[in-house]
Amino acid sequence: MTQDFNPIGTTTTVPRCDEQLLIYTHELEEQHHALSEAKEQAEKANKAKSEFLANMSHEIRTPLNGIIGIASLLRDTPLTPEQKGWVDIICKSSDVLLGLVNDILDVSKIEAGQLVLESLPFNLGTAITDVTDNFAHLAKEKGLAVYVEQGELSPLYLGDVTRIRQVLFNMLGNALKFTHQGYISLHIREEKLTGGLARICFKLQDTGIGIPANKCAQIFEKFTQANESITRQYGGTGLGLSICRSLIELMGGSIQVESVLNSGSCFTFDIYLRCVEQDIQTPIPQTLPVTQYKNKRALVVDDIEVNLILLKTILAKNGFDVVVAHNGVEACEITQTQSFDIIFMDCHMPLMDGYVAAAQIRKQLAASESIYTPIIALTADAMKDNRDRCHNAGMDDFITKPITKEQLLTSLSKWLGAANTQ
Ligand code: ADP
Repeated sequence: MTQDFNPIGTTTTVPRCDEQLLIYTHELEEQHHALSEAKEQAEKANKAKSEFLANMSHEIRTPLNGIIGIASLLRDTPLTPEQKGWVDIICKSSDVLLGLVNDILDVSKIEAGQLVLESLPFNLGTAITDVTDNFAHLAKEKGLAVYVEQGELSPLYLGDVTRIRQVLFNMLGNALKFTHQGYISLHIREEKLTGGLARICFKLQDTGIGIPANKCAQIFEKFTQANESITRQYGGTGLGLSICRSLIELMGGSIQVESVLNSGSCFTFDIYLRCVEQDIQTPIPQTLPVTQYKNKRALVVDDIEVNLILLKTILAKNGFDVVVAHNGVEACEITQTQSFDIIFMDCHMPLMDGYVAAAQIRKQLAASESIYTPIIALTADAMKDNRDRCHNAGMDDFITKPITKEQLLTSLSKWLGAANTQ
């Protein structure tokens, strides 16, 4: 159909351009539909990948829990020097494996957009000192000097101190790993901004092996290392810096590196934190000194025998009277007739899982208890969804497997405080 230009605009035929417009609109609708379908598919695939990684992490963490826990118990028993050396190798190797599992889990959380930062008050100076103190021994062994210079910092910031420590751990760990002589220096300064915000700038310098100029941008990519032959010499996966960059970006900042091969590297990064007003009384989570928990009763619920042995041993060593249950049904029965100061609840169990059991026990206790009983989830699944599920089931906190003695003691002092020693 054709149509001549008609200035008055009246016509009895459908104009060609309208016809084409209809065709285009239809095509566009089809493309939009196809795109929506593709997007839905991609989202489904991404969710499946995240679930797969969360499950894998669960499967790997469960046996690791046994290895790390029992090896640490073994280390506290009388051993010959040779046996002690072997146990140390088990501990070190399982720590490396755990680091790897954690890194993979972090990458999957970041990719799935599931990594959510905490916002709690913390003292940055203390966190920095904690991390640097951790490396003091290794630096001394390698004959390296470590200089830390903290400018004037606010006493309290709101943020995710665990993730800030993770970044510093990784970056300082790298600096130490790749430096054989000279020094490592860390400078931190605060820039006050408006609206109670602060920009914290970090500068980490080392006199190590350096990074080739053409690799400086790539090392922030996943699974990328400056030199593959170095991998064999120094180990590592090439995930650390990519996770650090994502965490720094989540905190509003960015990271850069300048490096001279065989002379050293200088990493600079910044993060944005909110300063806590001095007059606001914000409770600061504190770790109380752990003493003996004599006369305290703990219920441990787990279907895996090695976990029960581990928890029972650590708790009993700290004075607890420990009762165990192998699944949610048993736990619910026991709590009907006995009371406890604290309950440790595994999440995945046969017959009745930890979520259902915790919700049921919470209901039971609400009717009878005079003192609140904390329920702590024991979970091998560190994804955020699972944390929310634990809280929704009435659990107060959770410990991520593999469970260590330190983790357990910290949780005890958090929920029960320092018990009487008599
Ligand atoms: P990993 O150290 O596990 O390999 P990272 O992501 O932390 O993974 O680092 C990636 C790579 O960046 C390292 O393999 C190394 O080649 C390089 N790199 C990082 N930090 C330094 C440093 N301080 N000095 C020299 N090279 C470094």
